[in-house]
Amino acid sequence: MLDILRRIIQEVNSAADLDQALGIIVQRVRESVAVDVASVYLKTADTGEFVLSATEGLRKDAVGHVRLAASEGLVGMVGEREEPVNLEDAPSHPRYRFTKGTGENPYHAFLGVPIIQHGTVLGVLVVRQRQHRRFAEDEEAFLVTLAAQLAGAISHAGASGEISHVLQASEGVSVTLKGLPGAPGVAIGQALVVYPPANLEAIPDRSVKDADTEIENFRVAVTAVQDDIRDYANRMSSILPAEELALFDALLLMLGGDSLIGETVERIRAGNWAPGALRETIGEHVRVFESMEDSYMRERASDIRDLGRRILTHIQGDRPAIGAAYPRTVLVGEEISIGQLAEIPHESLAGIVSVSGSSSSHVAILAQAMGVPAVMGVEDMPVGRLEGQAIIADGYRGDVFVNPSELVREEFLRLQTQESKLTEVLQHVSRQPSVTPDGVNIPLYLNIGLVSGIENEVHANGDGVGLYRTEIPFLMQDRFPGEEFQLRTYRKALEAFAPRPVTLRTLDVGGDKMLPYFPVIEDNPFLGWRGIRISLDHPEIFLTQIRAMMRASVGLNNLTIMLPMVSTVTELDNALVLINQAQGELLEEGELVVRPPVGIMIEVPSAIYQIGAMAKRVDFFSIGTNDLTQYLLAVDRNNSRVAGLYQSLHPAVLGAIKQVIDQAHILGKPVSVCGEMAGDPAAVLALMGLGVNSLSMSASNLPRIKWVIRSFTREEARDLLEQAWQLESPREIRELYNAVLEQGGLGGLVRAGN
Ligand code: PEP
Ligand code: MG
Repeated sequence: MLDILRRIIQEVNSAADLDQALGIIVQRVRESVAVDVASVYLKTADTGEFVLSATEGLRKDAVGHVRLAASEGLVGMVGEREEPVNLEDAPSHPRYRFTKGTGENPYHAFLGVPIIQHGTVLGVLVVRQRQHRRFAEDEEAFLVTLAAQLAGAISHAGASGEISHVLQASEGVSVTLKGLPGAPGVAIGQALVVYPPANLEAIPDRSVKDADTEIENFRVAVTAVQDDIRDYANRMSSILPAEELALFDALLLMLGGDSLIGETVERIRAGNWAPGALRETIGEHVRVFESMEDSYMRERASDIRDLGRRILTHIQGDRPAIGAAYPRTVLVGEEISIGQLAEIPHESLAGIVSVSGSSSSHVAILAQAMGVPAVMGVEDMPVGRLEGQAIIADGYRGDVFVNPSELVREEFLRLQTQESKLTEVLQHVSRQPSVTPDGVNIPLYLNIGLVSGIENEVHANGDGVGLYRTEIPFLMQDRFPGEEFQLRTYRKALEAFAPRPVTLRTLDVGGDKMLPYFPVIEDNPFLGWRGIRISLDHPEIFLTQIRAMMRASVGLNNLTIMLPMVSTVTELDNALVLINQAQGELLEEGELVVRPPVGIMIEVPSAIYQIGAMAKRVDFFSIGTNDLTQYLLAVDRNNSRVAGLYQSLHPAVLGAIKQVIDQAHILGKPVSVCGEMAGDPAAVLALMGLGVNSLSMSASNLPRIKWVIRSFTREEARDLLEQAWQLESPREIRELYNAVLEQGGLGGLVRAGN
């Protein structure tokens, strides 16, 4: 059963469009459950009707014509109950409706299972049989499993089909895809599809002008792979037995034969570029092998995939780096890396649309810092079909419009104009002090480090830097940067902001931030070797960093050091020993270093309960709400499937922050917030009520947050918090704060937020 399931899902996943996907489903289900009829009814988004969308066994001409109201008949009942309905004799059931024109007369046994994705019923999968019988438990379980796995493929194929329809249409028909707000703003531009190197599946189609040169390059790449394989075979000949060596011959045979190469060349001649043509050919051959009964032959599919990847690597060998493909580039990809963002000149980068991730992924945070609109988690986006298409990304609502109509375009252009007016107003506010109307000063610091050039950020009127993510200098190198390199990097930031304080956070890699030269492969990276844990296990790296930080501050003395991911007092003690050691060594070497204030991030729940012990050892706390929210709510900050649960205005998160601030204040230690919450106007109102001492955020959020602070007294914020404590759901709490912002005339600042 598992094998059959896997094969059906693979076939459906590689279907070109929804019709083909549904056709495969009904055909395979009818064969594998041995029934007379297998049908899929899809639910329409507007009327909620169930439309017969594919069938094996009923009359084909009924497809698209048989429509059942939302709760009509047995199909409606399955949709309504959201559970399987298994009947021995369907016609005798009170909800049974006979539908004319399907030729369904003689069927008695009925089993319908809902197709549900993210809590929404997309359709119903139905099997029927002439005889009277109740379907067995394992048959029902099989269909339920299949339907659960197919839901994603069905909605993906639907979106993919719609897009290909749009691409074929000469007049643009707008297709809307749903994602999550990643960074605020509206991007209007052209899609530039980016993909990881040698990831054949992610290669887009692209048209080619000079087919002959493309074919020549392709052939050169194939020859290079043949040479590689011969090399491997030679090297292995003394190690491997002859049978195993035959595998290399088989690979060479495939590369020499006409099918893989000839078909790819044909496709290039038809207008696709070599990587796209190769993807199609390899995909087709892989499908043939994967559908074979013999498990040995099925395994050969992976050899073909591997050959495809090898050829691609050679083709890409002389691929130029991505550049400004379009004047208004919207980067589109399965997963967009920080490096890819950096490759696009800032002035051409209009927006980002990513299949994976959410608003708290580092790429989204970077986009916020750069003021670039981003939509994340667009799961149904057929990336490979979007190259060069006109695209609008609405980073406020998480919508993406492909090939938008003129009307939609105009509406978004209007929104962009409104937005720049609001920015002007905010620019004015940003030069005022960050003080509430009742005189409470709440300094606003900047989060920097994700953007390489700090020059622009210095002028953003921040009171200093509250979080410098030092990972980025590490990410930009091909080895651990040495003390002198780090010294120069940190000195630049400290000088640029002096005499304002600059908080340098020690290395926080692990989780979703991996150094290319220091890979950490773990099942649970967010619960693994991260942040301070790595630093303490590698004192040589930590000491180098601390020394560079302290030396960078000589004569300026505006350095503050912050430690990430601290979960136990022992970790803190060990880190302090190393900080003291670094300072001692530097003094001995004659460097006039002074001991900077040292603080920790509160982002692991265990730290909340040890504030007393921690406060005795540090000068300040800064709450990292991005991680604190994920660890407290057990919601992966990068997983779009659970992004709806990632709520920083959750009563538990607010309760935790309250505990930290109250405890720290009793012990006389200030508390800042440096997670994304600090840049979210509604959340800032809550933090003001909780008594936070300062905030640190992306430069692009600073003006709006200053506006909030200058608009509400601390008393008002405290009263609001009293009301918020009465509420039990994050949604209600956000609504409360949004309503207050609207009343205060700050409606333009209200966004979906997290
Ligand atoms: C946080 O976790 O809130 C934080 C500021 O750190 P990072 O986003 O870099 O993990
Ligand atoms: Mg963190």
